[in-house]
Amino acid sequence: MESVAREIKGSFHWYPVQKTFSIISTKDTLKFAVGIPYMTRNGLAIEMAAAPKLDNGHIWLAEADAKKISYKAAIEAKQNIAPSNVPKPPETKPDKIAETKPVETPKAKPADKPKIKTAEQKPAAPVVVKPKTPKQEIAGTREVRTIVIDPGHGGKDPGASGKRSQEKDIVLAVAKLLRKNLDDLGLNVKLTRNKDVFIELQQRAMLANQWDGDLFISLHCNAIDATEERKKIIQGYQFYVLRAPESEEDKAIARRENAVATLYGEKNAKDELSPLEWFKLEARLEQYKQTSYLFTEKLLDSFEGGKIKKMNTGVGGAGFMVLVGAMMPAVLIELGFISNEEDENYMMSTKGQVDLADRIAEAVENYRDALHNYRETLGRK
Ligand SMILES: [Zn+2]
Repeated sequence: MESVAREIKGSFHWYPVQKTFSIISTKDTLKFAVGIPYMTRNGLAIEMAAAPKLDNGHIWLAEADAKKISYKAAIEAKQNIAPSNVPKPPETKPDKIAETKPVETPKAKPADKPKIKTAEQKPAAPVVVKPKTPKQEIAGTREVRTIVIDPGHGGKDPGASGKRSQEKDIVLAVAKLLRKNLDDLGLNVKLTRNKDVFIELQQRAMLANQWDGDLFISLHCNAIDATEERKKIIQGYQFYVLRAPESEEDKAIARRENAVATLYGEKNAKDELSPLEWFKLEARLEQYKQTSYLFTEKLLDSFEGGKIKKMNTGVGGAGFMVLVGAMMPAVLIELGFISNEEDENYMMSTKGQVDLADRIAEAVENYRDALHNYRETLGRK
């Protein structure tokens, strides 16, 4: 493995806890996981001939994979590096199998430190991103035009139930009010459902992709199954992005939201993501991470001072199936706890629904403006 890394002029990194490793060259970031027959190259998942194996402290890679990696890297280096710098042609292949010793105690390698500016140097320019034509620009970097609102659940799937209401009705009502608000802002608005119908989780993200959305907002109500006493205490809104869950609480919320899939007979339904799925998702998550978080920041601002309180930090991450396929920044909003009487009453009331829709719309507007301003600083039109 190390020989492959050397050949493509990359550095090799081993993460013993996750049993993953990466090769980082100037051009490519390749990521691998022991036992998983997929690698990612600059975020794109690529199927491998065989899963990397860990044996006796050595990582083993199939010959076909080692060849493919060094060949691809060499081709690209040729295209991108000045002639004097052309690396060896890919003839020098690792033998039968490439191997390396995993680093036993990975030293914290200092990252390439930016050079200290001297007085006569101009201030550093903003991070240079090659301007692309609008067609190539991905959601989250281009101007915000199309918002996809996804009212959770519907039809045979009521979602969570409170004493007097069902999640599917509350989120649809808020979604319709939000549509009106966003229309007024001149945005193109799409709803994954505008009536009481059942739509599969995967279908929702697919619709969003078909509409080429710039932001995916999935609306939900939280709930806990607990004693009446606890239900009185547990309340508040929370915003979620797709991320490997860190707390049991977040995992439980994702499981509840994902459970609709298994309960109501979706094809290929399951309520948790496997390590392989997380691995394959990693690249895409990275692509939309910053902008998804940017939107949650705007939500945190606009929800402050409302009737419903903030729960914990206000932002969590978990494996929400509805967000998995969306090729755009995506946030799931738990408006409040339907299992809490106070939250439920507010979410059921017209006043509450109007207020919630107003706050979300304000966050969307601020998000749109923030992205627009960011683009201006980059000199994009
Ligand atoms: Zn829900």
